[in-house]
Amino acid sequence: MYSPRWPPGTPGRIRRRAVERTLADRLEAALARPAAQQPGWPDPDRVRAVVRRLTAGEPLVTPAETRRLLDRLGAVARGEALLLQSGDCAETFAESTEPHLRANLGLLRRMALVLTHAAGLPVVTVARAAGQYAKPRSAAVDAHGLPVYRGDIVNSAESSHTARTPDPERMVRAHHHAREAMTVVRRLAHGDLADAHALHEENHRFVSTAPGGRRHRARAAEIGRGLRFMTGVGAPAPRLGEIWTSHKALLLDYKRTLLWADPDGPEPRLSSGLAHFLWIGERTRHPDGAHIAFAELLANPVGVKIGPNTTPEQALDYLRRLDPHGEPGRVTLISRMGHNRVREVLPPIVEKVTASGRQVIWSCDPMHGNSRTTAAGYKTRCYDHILDKITGFLEVHRALGTHPGGLHLEATGEDVTECTGGARGLTEDNLPARYRTACDPRLNAEQSMELAFTVAESYAT
Ligand code: PEP
Ligand code: MN
Repeated sequence: MYSPRWPPGTPGRIRRRAVERTLADRLEAALARPAAQQPGWPDPDRVRAVVRRLTAGEPLVTPAETRRLLDRLGAVARGEALLLQSGDCAETFAESTEPHLRANLGLLRRMALVLTHAAGLPVVTVARAAGQYAKPRSAAVDAHGLPVYRGDIVNSAESSHTARTPDPERMVRAHHHAREAMTVVRRLAHGDLADAHALHEENHRFVSTAPGGRRHRARAAEIGRGLRFMTGVGAPAPRLGEIWTSHKALLLDYKRTLLWADPDGPEPRLSSGLAHFLWIGERTRHPDGAHIAFAELLANPVGVKIGPNTTPEQALDYLRRLDPHGEPGRVTLISRMGHNRVREVLPPIVEKVTASGRQVIWSCDPMHGNSRTTAAGYKTRCYDHILDKITGFLEVHRALGTHPGGLHLEATGEDVTECTGGARGLTEDNLPARYRTACDPRLNAEQSMELAFTVAESYAT
């Protein structure tokens, strides 16, 4: 039977045993439910051996950190802060490098700086990083009849039967990369990506040189004046807070490893040692399935993607199950209906949840539900649709008086060509130049900053 690990200083062996037994039983019961989107591992014994090895390894995050994030997210749920979550659609082992992480995390911070200025609120920065290696897929085989690529944690994207056969050893490699990535995240978050002056310098360059930046010069100038004023009056150099990590709770054989017991919340729960924040995807949120049952057990703040078919009753049901004690910040509902559905699908959901008196973070994923494949076979998204989805989300919340607390983007600080549009006018013909994503198309650095400055206008107080 699996026993969770305990944080230092947790007393009482007898109580520990009882809590461990309950948590282990509930975990087994959750994982015994039907689970969508899991790989067909060829050799279950090897999977069990890998799970045992990983379980004995080192967690990446602690329950104390995760509780701190829950506290910050409580402020978002109450309307006193914003949540910005961003990063790759799918992290790869090959791009698990310091330069790539620095580019993505730097972009996250630069966007956060702009939103903080506009909204006059702290922005909680959560990276899609250090574990975002598994992908849900709509078909089990690709156009050539090969098993689909399910992310580097499961198989390789190369087109051969051997490469596509799920290999549980990849979970060990994923954990190794995630641990290294976590070290980089911590170093950068407390190092130069905390420095508001340095982040602003880059934003200043963007508004001075990029076609999408020029119309935002006034805001950038105001941020610059604010920073100089603080220096002038002798205030300590302003530094941004932590960068928290997140990924989709998809691959349950990985997610079941490195769980802490967390006896400190309203009921004993399991705190994932793999990331601070986990979310359940659109294709794995079945109410009777393993993923939601697993999320119920977690002490971590959790997100649930809500797509165009989510009913108000379903949304409320997620909240009752995932947040039975009414902890603000515990659940983030991430709307991912397309730009042409949000204005119709989201309002009854928000009304129903609001009428129940529950506090939830309303976040907007304008990326999923807004994709299409070009004639040349590139999966892409259009900047205007992404912006329109966010605009629709903001309109709905303004009309209902609720706090549009979060944005959830697939974006990279690199100069890729994966999404069309933006002021530089990327077209379908530009996509092949630097189309690098392992899965869905990401906004590049310029498109992301243009989006951040534009959306900031709607948050301006
Ligand atoms: C994702 O966020 O990586 C994702 C695949 O989202 P969804 O579950 O909404 O499709
Ligand atoms: Mn994606």
